[in-house]
Amino acid sequence: MNMNTIMLSMMRFNRRAKRIVYSFLTCIIILNLLPVPTDLISVGMVTVLAAESPQKQESQDSRILWLVNPNNPLEATYRPERLVLLKGYAINAEARVAYLKMLEDMRAVGIEGLKLQSAYRAYRHQQAIFNEKIKSLVKMGHTEEGARTIAARSVAVPGASEHQLGLAVDVSIDGQLSVDFAETEAGVWIKNNSARYGYIVRYPKEKTAITRIMYEPWHLRYVGVPHAEFMRENNLCFEEYIDLVKNAGIILFWLGDGRYYKISYSSSYINKTSENVESYSISSIGASPSDGYIITELKRFLS
Ligand SMILES: [Zn+2]
Repeated sequence: MNMNTIMLSMMRFNRRAKRIVYSFLTCIIILNLLPVPTDLISVGMVTVLAAESPQKQESQDSRILWLVNPNNPLEATYRPERLVLLKGYAINAEARVAYLKMLEDMRAVGIEGLKLQSAYRAYRHQQAIFNEKIKSLVKMGHTEEGARTIAARSVAVPGASEHQLGLAVDVSIDGQLSVDFAETEAGVWIKNNSARYGYIVRYPKEKTAITRIMYEPWHLRYVGVPHAEFMRENNLCFEEYIDLVKNAGIILFWLGDGRYYKISYSSSYINKTSENVESYSISSIGASPSDGYIITELKRFLS
């Protein structure tokens, strides 16, 4: 995907908002007409303006964009902060609010019965599930090593589970975590709408070669609205999205109401915000500071 594609797809963001369809060229022209365009036209690199105002918004590392997979495992001792309870399960506070809103809107369109099956899981809990899976495969006649390989496709190895972040939920209609969920009314609705609440279907059918986890229509990961929307619009899985932001440096999302999201990558922690910023958040993308950060700003097009 090149920058051209990125800019155009950003303009498709928020289908409910009045659509603005500019050509890529028009878009660049408009960017150049902005009163303080420096940070907008430096697409492809991260620029911090010298003229930025002092910090005026909360800027703690939210960690909502941590990429966790077999290549980026969590320490056994990692336990997230800000866990709260949701239907008896511990979960990240922000993810909880978004989940409840999603549930409410599902009900408003007549879809009932979505059950929360799992949220935060400690490393030890994940280890127990993984070992149980290996045991059952060995019983079926697989070797220990073969069982381990097979198990890793359906159960995240300890440390590689997003449940340890408190940012993932498993949902069902009938208590079963099954691919059949995708065919249910709730499953279809979630696939089409969860991004509006900041959730992605984390292990899509067509991305198993990248995620290395089998298709799981029931496993949702909270990443925040603009990121989830961008992934859905561009058919990207989380691994691809993180790569894209790192490589592009900056991407912009137009909302059609005079506002836009600026999503940028920085190798170091930045806690300054510029003028006309409505919200600012920063998230590291991995447990190591060298993994870098993604900064999400909601800005106003005209001040
Ligand atoms: Zn799950």
